[in-house]
Amino acid sequence: KEKTLAMIKPDGLLGNYTDKIKKVILESGFSILREMKVQLDEANVTLLYAEHSSRSFFHSLIKYMTSGPVFLMVLEKENAISDWRAMIGPTDARKAKITHPKSIRAMCGLDSERNCVHGSDSPQSAVREISFFFGEMPLT
Ligand code: ATP
Repeated sequence: KEKTLAMIKPDGLLGNYTDKIKKVILESGFSILREMKVQLDEANVTLLYAEHSSRSFFHSLIKYMTSGPVFLMVLEKENAISDWRAMIGPTDARKAKITHPKSIRAMCGLDSERNCVHGSDSPQSAVREISFFFGEMPLT
């Protein structure tokens, strides 16, 4: 089975969406193999979003992502990566409310930055992100 990294971002934790999101995850057939709450620092966010480091919104993204703790989960199921990406919906939560009203970002996100959840976008980033946060230990 496939694994992916799911993250509830600071706005999701602040809005007390953790239990609601976990309920949707479990009802959708994922197993939650690991979970932890952590406060990210600037270095963590820079590594996680390295591909955006030259974008105009990068400084704001660092401020947002370090504004409070995040909740990390390793999810497992068949097609975990694409299924979790489909469940969270488009990046811009404002658009998600219109085009994907049942998505998680429609439920708890605000705009194109504060979109309350993250999901790995490929098998390579899933491996990279899971080992970044949870180390190389076998997840069984
Ligand atoms: P994530 O990687 O967090 O799952 P994503 O893959 O849907 O999100 P990316 O394009 O990788 O979106 O952007 C990473 C994050 O950077 C977004 O989740 C959002 O918080 C922020 N972001 C993306 N685009 C913008 C933008 N135009 N303005 C402000 N913030 C943005």
